[in-house]
Amino acid sequence: TNADSEQFSRISRPVHEDYVHVNPEVAPEPELLSVSNDAVIDLELDPDETQTDQFVQVFSGNTLLHDTRPWSLCYGGHQFSLWANQLGDGRAISLFETKTKQGECWDIQLKGAGRTPFSRFGDGYAVLRSSIREYLCSEHMHALGVPTTRALALITTSREVYREPEAETDAVGPEHGAVVARMAPSWLRFGSFELPYARNNMKAVQRLADYCADQVYGPEALECLDASAAPANENKYTRLFLQVAKRTAIMVARWQAVGFNHGVMNTDNFSILGLTLDYGPFQFMDFYEPAYICNHSDTAGQYAFKRQPTVCVYNLFKFGVPLFELIGAGNKVDEIVYVDPREADEATKATATDDVTRQAYREAGKEYVTKVLSEDFTDWFMEELQQVMQNKLGLLKSDASTMADVIIPLLDWATEFKVDHHRLFRSMSKYEVTSKGEDHDNALALSTLDIIPKDPARLDDAKQALAPWLSIYRHLLLDQDAAQENKARQLRMNANNPRFVLRNWIVQQVIDAFDKQPQDEAKKTLNACLYACTHPYQEHYNDPQIEAWINASVPEWGQDL
Ligand code: AMP
Ligand code: MG
Ligand code: MG
Repeated sequence: TNADSEQFSRISRPVHEDYVHVNPEVAPEPELLSVSNDAVIDLELDPDETQTDQFVQVFSGNTLLHDTRPWSLCYGGHQFSLWANQLGDGRAISLFETKTKQGECWDIQLKGAGRTPFSRFGDGYAVLRSSIREYLCSEHMHALGVPTTRALALITTSREVYREPEAETDAVGPEHGAVVARMAPSWLRFGSFELPYARNNMKAVQRLADYCADQVYGPEALECLDASAAPANENKYTRLFLQVAKRTAIMVARWQAVGFNHGVMNTDNFSILGLTLDYGPFQFMDFYEPAYICNHSDTAGQYAFKRQPTVCVYNLFKFGVPLFELIGAGNKVDEIVYVDPREADEATKATATDDVTRQAYREAGKEYVTKVLSEDFTDWFMEELQQVMQNKLGLLKSDASTMADVIIPLLDWATEFKVDHHRLFRSMSKYEVTSKGEDHDNALALSTLDIIPKDPARLDDAKQALAPWLSIYRHLLLDQDAAQENKARQLRMNANNPRFVLRNWIVQQVIDAFDKQPQDEAKKTLNACLYACTHPYQEHYNDPQIEAWINASVPEWGQDL
């Protein structure tokens, strides 16, 4: 069926060549479980509209809006450092793009709406548990200020979906299918560039890079970026690479600051907009453990928490490879002639730029990309991390020495005692500088801060070890005159240290609610959790369930999910 909607000003543009048109499958008995108000606002939708039957039909994939032709993207990727060749949207179908009055562009996509030509052996479906995880975490990350793809709605269906049980105790049998309506300005990934490059089709790579630079970013967004590594003569591909690298650095700095472990940092899961993409086995660490691995199948710890910035550099290099030639050509890039190996006859092939010239460009581009990644990436990452940590600690300013003398020592301490860093940071605003002096202030802090080591027996040691750091912190506050305004600092800190964090055991409780409670009750639990996810800094929640989640210690069953 087709339907009209006043709600969306649709623009249909060919994405680029690496896509196929595919329609979602009909979803039996779709039921709307949740809508994200934040996403509704960002899309400029009428909230009443989201409660209509048409909304459920469109975002479950049952009804197509007029003049829309859904599509899935084709891409490749490096998975755990190995080239996986062609992958593609195996269970994601983009419905349409829409542009808001604000001028923001959103590509609205369904996940779990059925098979696509890229499904390989998969069924194209998603189960409720993984959909709940993606839905809640997308909106939570956005509220935490971490760049991310978004989620508009979560819809369940009566479709039976079979999955491998995750634990031995899991029931074997059909689960309910679900569809997440999600949105991003673009769903292109690093792997979108890697695939045409692997197929030796530089013409397609260039077309995609042009699309990214001109349409996805646009000339304005690509204009201003200063990097220490300036190429001899830059062009828009240089600017594109710098922009992607910088955004990725900012994204991962924020992951590190909130203690987020992504789990599957394959290049097919890396957004060209520096957005957190693909919520699989992700986890917010309960305790600060840099070696933490949230992905049970990542036995070597390749995507361990502490390795995330390094993996970003690796992935950016893989993204850079297809662009080497275009970057290295500098202001001669317009002279390059590429021919599509699939289309060209011998005569056309003869017009292509020769291999020796291209090889020279490639080497220049490689040198440039390497320099950006070894110098600028680190600067961007450290600047962002320092800024976020400055805000978390309520400091008015910070520099490299703040990083070395205050921030890193605190994280080292958190590592040594495996403390619950969310609780610690949230409680840090309780630190007060008084006229009673350092000993008094520190003693008070040690009794009021939430110091929760993973091993409770280490509490006293942890407190003792933190005392010298508190003195350094106090001096810094006095230096910055922040001491005069404890109240203002506390407000600033509480706006930067979430009180609610979507811990793994909390998501699990929401998921379990759908097995254990009547659907209406479970829906309430889900929406309470969404509220907390999207208002993570609130000092008090009227909902006792949310307060209980926040105040509970990590349950034993929740420590190793
Ligand atoms: P992921 O691990 O989620 O990044 O998925 C890797 C690849 O497998 C992507 O190309 C997905 O689209 C595809 N995929 C994962 N699950 C399914 C499924 N149930 N049906 C079809 N394709 C899938
Ligand atoms: Mg993926
Ligand atoms: Mg996935």
